[in-house]
Amino acid sequence: MEISDRRYAKIKHYAQSFLTCFEPKNPLELLDKLDVHCKFINLSEDLGGFTDRIKLADNENIYYVYINSRYKYDDTAKNIIVAHELGHILLHSADYLNLFDTESSSMVEEYEADLFSMELMPSIRPVGCNYRQFSPTALRNYICSIIRAKKSDFL
Ligand SMILES: [Zn+2]
Repeated sequence: MEISDRRYAKIKHYAQSFLTCFEPKNPLELLDKLDVHCKFINLSEDLGGFTDRIKLADNENIYYVYINSRYKYDDTAKNIIVAHELGHILLHSADYLNLFDTESSSMVEEYEADLFSMELMPSIRPVGCNYRQFSPTALRNYICSIIRAKKSDFL
């Protein structure tokens, strides 16, 4: 699966705009500035988080990002999950629900949200290689390996 250079440029542009316009730059604090609500709830084991939208009127939505409270994520892991969900909100807001770590939303959307999170968080990019050359699965595995390394299960 490939996405066009033009689409990638758009994803990158969104992330760059955030990095340019907002201070502080970590995704969790960005949620606050963007008026996106964040909640911790107990989700199934395979899920890091998901996004929900409540439609109030044609152009009025309330967005919620939920993070799985089953795991003890550190801030980096939380920020990665939030960055991914922010990608969905910005890029796929026509969709009602998006899940992190499952197959239920489309592969393209998952890949795009992963690319967005990499663009929004330069600190997690691999050193010495261009992650743009990773396949969608390799990119997902790379991101999940960072989250896994950073989270610790509750007892
Ligand atoms: Zn997702």
